[in-house]
Amino acid sequence: MDQKSASMGERVITLDDEVWEKLIELTEGAAAVCYQCGACTATCPWGLVSEETVSVRDLIRRVQLGLELDDRLWLCTSCAQCEAYCPRDVPIAEVFRALRYIDWQRNTPPEGLPSLLWSVYWNDNPWEQPPSQRAAWAQDLALPAFDPDEHEVLLYVGGTASYDTRAQQVAMALVRVLRAAGVAFGVLGDAEPPSGAEVLDVGHQPYFQEIVAHTTEVFRERGVTRLVTLSPHSYDAFRQHYPDEFEPLHYTQYLAQLLADERLSFAQPVEFVVAFHDPCYLARHNAEIEAPRAVLRAIPGLDVIEMADAGIDTLCCGGGGGRMWLETEPDERFADLRVQEALDTEATILATACPFCIACLEDSLKAQKITALRVMDIAEIAALALESQKVRRSKVEKSES
Ligand code: SF4
Ligand code: SF4
Repeated sequence: MDQKSASMGERVITLDDEVWEKLIELTEGAAAVCYQCGACTATCPWGLVSEETVSVRDLIRRVQLGLELDDRLWLCTSCAQCEAYCPRDVPIAEVFRALRYIDWQRNTPPEGLPSLLWSVYWNDNPWEQPPSQRAAWAQDLALPAFDPDEHEVLLYVGGTASYDTRAQQVAMALVRVLRAAGVAFGVLGDAEPPSGAEVLDVGHQPYFQEIVAHTTEVFRERGVTRLVTLSPHSYDAFRQHYPDEFEPLHYTQYLAQLLADERLSFAQPVEFVVAFHDPCYLARHNAEIEAPRAVLRAIPGLDVIEMADAGIDTLCCGGGGGRMWLETEPDERFADLRVQEALDTEATILATACPFCIACLEDSLKAQKITALRVMDIAEIAALALESQKVRRSKVEKSES
């Protein structure tokens, strides 16, 4: 490696001429058009919680000058707020991933991230859970194995909803809604391969490409073409980084289609006042703002309120970019800001459609001991609005009288 050292007083700065070249190569030149305007720094949510912001302008400048990367590189949640305001259309999240890969090559990623990759490698999930238990959450649901001759779609559950007990509740609710709509769907059970979204987020491109190749092979063998994901992160990985032969849909998009086709309807009023939190990987990375709202609008009784930062301007929960596996100081949690925005409305329910958002927002409520607000996934609210809920409720009322 071509390194030089320059002495500045007592401080020695290492200059590395190759980092800029590597970055340009890894981003196919996309980073080169940055003209240092600083709009990214001004819009990054880190500026709301910390005096030391994460500035892609600054990081790009550092590598242009041949200066060492620093650990702020790993603060980025890949929320893409900055991208929405960059006048040069720099794919900033991709630039961060490329810089992170340079850190992987130097063997200096933060503690905790190598074990994330090893877990995906050994267990096909990032949570260090045994692959043989991937389908355990659904053991009482009798979900059929996906068969392309019988099923319209594959329900891609994903690693988090397969193992995290909170996210499992969302998966169960979605199963109820799909069944109520008469959708013929199947699952891959313990054989479900990873999407690799977390590996992509932490910037290990070569390993992510291996996962893409493997998962593509599994999908081809199983005859999968149309798949519905629970997580916006899996949806993003499949939509943006897998071959075009697959048609991924986030579940809110699929439910919106079912509603438009009059295959799904909600009969049971749900008298909630709801503030909707757009997941970054739906609203910004994939420009999907309407589908979740279409589902919420179709639920009778629901009063849906927009928060100060909504749609393309959504405020990140703090869980993307691998941050779920890294420590965040209590006073630096974006989710606290988001919870406050919801509290500033009349809402008693903070709704979202992403397992990471649910985890971050619920952690914030717990840490702040807030009981006036409850976090729910759209699938859970939709399941409450099913006709069968009404029947179930009236049966309960009957047996009680
Ligand atoms: S907003 Fe875009 S052009 Fe401006 S400094 Fe940031 S990356 Fe560079
Ligand atoms: S992607 Fe989000 S967290 Fe990362 S630099 Fe941009 S605005 Fe900041």
